[in-house]
Amino acid sequence: MNVPKKVKHFVWKVCKNILATKENLWRRNITKDNTCEVCKKQVESIGHLFWFYDHVKEVWYSCKLSLSFEIHPSRDYMNVIWHLQKWEESRPRLLEWMVKISWGIWKDRNDIRHRGRLWSGQAVTRSLLCSLEEFQLANERLMANAKRNHVVKWALPQAGCYKVNVDRVVFSKKKQSGVGVVVKDGAIQVIATLSKKQYSSLGPLEIEAKAMEIGVTFAMKVGVGDVTFEGDSLEICNAIHGLTIVAPSVQNVVTGILKCA
Ligand SMILES: [Zn+2]
Repeated sequence: MNVPKKVKHFVWKVCKNILATKENLWRRNITKDNTCEVCKKQVESIGHLFWFYDHVKEVWYSCKLSLSFEIHPSRDYMNVIWHLQKWEESRPRLLEWMVKISWGIWKDRNDIRHRGRLWSGQAVTRSLLCSLEEFQLANERLMANAKRNHVVKWALPQAGCYKVNVDRVVFSKKKQSGVGVVVKDGAIQVIATLSKKQYSSLGPLEIEAKAMEIGVTFAMKVGVGDVTFEGDSLEICNAIHGLTIVAPSVQNVVTGILKCA
């Protein structure tokens, strides 16, 4: 997802239901009032905040973003994300937009709470688009500079430490995927290697996660400590560090890796 870090962090909080909504603050005895800041009628839960009152419906309407399923009060935010991930191929970037708009709604809600300003749904969307456009431009500039100034190099492991590189290869026609693991010591001596063929129809991100899992398990078998693991999926790396949300099937592998480590 091409969104600012603060938006990713926001989504993580929403999915974990730890965003500072009135309902969550009330549950933690921080406030005695759990009613919605905007409609003042219902409890400000995550579901209510993002989908179920007139003002927020106006925001969604003005974005012209149509989801291919209905959102019921019983459906939690995480569940909406899983659904959208299924359509990632046929409707690319739908999930990204849903997340961005949710963030805009949260910003708007804070504006109402702290400044008493109630913008129209259209104005909320406009301001959101402007701030995201700024992010996009800044990001593009940053990438261009990085390309100009930086050459990615394999970094040496620190003295006394080991480095484990994992990589995966996919043969989509045969529905096969392979994983390679190389363990090197501080003197860049290869001390162990492993290559494994897997016969399954896992998705690309699932294979990346699986590759990392095989790397971690192999390093344990070889008996090396103080290891830096290196793979080529930033998304898996972020998932391991809890910075991004991935599909449940990928998350299961990530959880397994964290248990091993
Ligand atoms: Zn409300």
